[in-house]
Amino acid sequence: MHKTIVVAVAALTVSALLAAQGQPPNPNAPSNFITFNSPVTVLTHVRVIDGTGAPARANQTIVIRDGRIAQVGDVAAITLPSGANIIDLPGRSVIPGLVMMHEHLYYPTGPGVYGQLGESFARLYLAGGVTTMRTGGNTNGIMDFNLARRIDAGEMVGPTLDATAPYLNGPSPFLQMYGLKDAADARRQANYWADMGATSFKAYMQITRDELKASIEEAHKRGLKVTGHLCSVTYGEAADLGIDNLEHGFFAATDFVPDKQPDVCPGQARGQESMAALDENGAPFAALVKKLVDRHVALTSTLTVFETFTPGRPGPRGLDVLTPQLREQFERAHERVEQNASSTYATLFPKDMRMERAFVKAGGLLTAGIDPTGAGGVVPGFADQRQLELLVEAGFTPLEAIAIGTRNGATYLGRDAVIGTIAAGKQADLVIVNGDPSTTIADVQRVQTVVKKGVGYDPSKLIASVTGRVGLW
Ligand SMILES: [Zn+2]
Repeated sequence: MHKTIVVAVAALTVSALLAAQGQPPNPNAPSNFITFNSPVTVLTHVRVIDGTGAPARANQTIVIRDGRIAQVGDVAAITLPSGANIIDLPGRSVIPGLVMMHEHLYYPTGPGVYGQLGESFARLYLAGGVTTMRTGGNTNGIMDFNLARRIDAGEMVGPTLDATAPYLNGPSPFLQMYGLKDAADARRQANYWADMGATSFKAYMQITRDELKASIEEAHKRGLKVTGHLCSVTYGEAADLGIDNLEHGFFAATDFVPDKQPDVCPGQARGQESMAALDENGAPFAALVKKLVDRHVALTSTLTVFETFTPGRPGPRGLDVLTPQLREQFERAHERVEQNASSTYATLFPKDMRMERAFVKAGGLLTAGIDPTGAGGVVPGFADQRQLELLVEAGFTPLEAIAIGTRNGATYLGRDAVIGTIAAGKQADLVIVNGDPSTTIADVQRVQTVVKKGVGYDPSKLIASVTGRVGLW
């Protein structure tokens, strides 16, 4: 008798569990966020901004077949394939999916602590129009690689990831960073993390020239690239050592610190003071720019993070996706920024914008990223759109800013034959926006659908799935 009851109760419990697990759809399933996924999709009566910097073309049709752009051209010139999913888009524009180069899957959650937010961040990046991104250094070890694989396998939603290894840095105060011992250690680390799945590297503020040289050599042997947020090594030294990319425009340059000791970081603030004092029209700056251009060192603009440090700037969008604690933490930090009357950034923020323009004018490859670090407030997706707006504020035309955020990233990654522009044969990575960002760059905020490999994703569903909870996972 007792035995029967126990079995019955157990059976009930199991069935209740199964119902709980099986009945409601999995809220994390990629299918929840998909708006279209057809063998052939046609976007028509749409404005095309192709990412090359060419003028926008009105009244276009894009035929997407099996994840690729099969045809693009004037509405009148293209015969609609039968059986296609036809989406009429008057008043909308299509730009290439963003290819962003200084993204992270972590966020400052407490003093010196970076929370690993891979899944929620991946959704926000995609919602903002990012279809490919490099993580510019990781503070966890393997999450970025696993996420890259799971997104590729269709198990999770997010951009295609160029997953960067844990930072290559010397001893530092960062709890979540390894400290290299010497050049031989740098070689071991580079190879270890490449074996683990890293597809690029990021050198950091306390690395020595020998360690940087060793890292670059090992990475290049494997066909991988190295970027750096430097301090101990100057931009000029890094260019001579063969680095591929430098982060943060000219905000991290220590080339002009008067008593700079080799291999020693004089402090980020001293570097920035030296840049704020530098004659941007003088020969020393021109010589540095020339060296970077001659050595094919790309530069990544991350104006978004510096905007959060600069007094008098508008507050960032997207804060309501954060947990209430993280939102409040940022708002307190932002008040301190607003009250800082002697901030170097008041001078340096607009000056760096001009310096980035000078780098491009001299023939340099400028890419874009957001860097969701600092004291917070740089929210993936929202900040990617803001970064394009800030490039326009820096003096680039909207078409140039869009090309920096799409084609230039693809060019750096060596993937420009596949992604970064809109043309027949390219992968169908596209952002459909309301309005015309070729004239009004702020229209990049008005994303209707993000298309990755021909599949349409709904940004509002992606954002709603994480709202109020970013900071937890
Ligand atoms: Zn960063």
